[in-house]
Amino acid sequence: MILLKTFFLWVLSLFGIYPDKYLTLKVNEALPPILKKNIIYIVEEDGYQEQAAMLCPCGCKRILHMNLLPDERPCWKVIEYKDGSVSLNPSVWRKTDCRSHFWFIKGKIKWVGNMQNNPHDF
Ligand SMILES: [Zn+2]
Repeated sequence: MILLKTFFLWVLSLFGIYPDKYLTLKVNEALPPILKKNIIYIVEEDGYQEQAAMLCPCGCKRILHMNLLPDERPCWKVIEYKDGSVSLNPSVWRKTDCRSHFWFIKGKIKWVGNMQNNPHDF
């Protein structure tokens, strides 16, 4: 059932349709050369989660890399849910450029501060 849903969302993405919920895609060792919108990539190596990556949700097209290895700083934790979605802890905060600050919770972006109304409007 979950597989079917993932497949369905993937088919939609081929047509440029992205439901607001992010798809979780686990990849081995390396990220694909081009990241797609509304997908959070979890890079795994030897069974360990190495990093999470996604396009910045503000639309600035930067790639956000979140380290998942506990012996490096800063470090995020991925929480996985039965429906295939994930959360990131703590929040993601770009201190430069677009300054996006958001929580990633169960595949959805929760903006922090003054960007929460419309992140595309600044
Ligand atoms: Zn951004």
